[in-house]
This record gives sequence, C-alpha cells and structure tokens, in this order.
Amino acid sequence: MKSVLIVDDSRVSRRILRNMLEVVGFEVAGEAINGKEGFEQYKKLSPDVVTMDITMPEMNGIDALKLIREYDPEAKIIIITAAGQDEKRDEAIRSGATAFVTKPYDNQKIIDAINNC
Ligand SMILES: [Mg+2]
Repeated sequence: MKSVLIVDDSRVSRRILRNMLEVVGFEVAGEAINGKEGFEQYKKLSPDVVTMDITMPEMNGIDALKLIREYDPEAKIIIITAAGQDEKRDEAIRSGATAFVTKPYDNQKIIDAINNC
C-alpha cells in the first residue's frame, strides 16, 4: 500500500482527494496547504508519492517540486492542477514530475498515476 502526501491549498480539494485515495486503499501520510509546508512534510514523512497542486500561496507547486527533487532525486510527484495550467506541464515534467493530471478529478487517472510510480 503506497503512502501519499497531499499538497493543495484548497481544503475541499484535499478532502475529495483524501477520501478517494483512502477508499481505494492508499494511506494518506499527511496533507500540506502550500509548497513550503509540502517540502517540510516530505522530509518528515517520506511518503511514496506526492500529489501536488500548482497554484498555492507562499510557495507554488512547481517550486516545491524542484525543492523536493533536489532533496530526493527519486521523489515521485504527481502534479494535479486546475485545467488551464497546461502551459505548466512542460516545466513540471522537465522539473521531474512523474505525471500531470488536470482537475476536476478523474479518479482512475490519479489512481493509475500513483500505481505507476
Ligand atoms: Mg490551488
């Protein structure tokens, strides 16, 4: 069972994602509300996979992705972000994102992305 760290500034998004992941049997190791906290939580929890929003206060998901990958080059990070952020896809992949999924949530896409990590 893979452990997942959810990083998203939207409480509703975190709740939806947490419920969906727990229903299919993943362990939600923790949640973070911005990129800075996500990086701190990553170091503390060492989750198998991170789901990362892009637009967040304090530190966005791309910067957090870069920081985490610098800290742990093996980190598995899935960018899950609102539609209309497609221009960020290339930068995310270049920066080491494992996958890029757009909201609204397509449960199966997210589950597949986590399983493929
Ligand atoms: Mg956001």
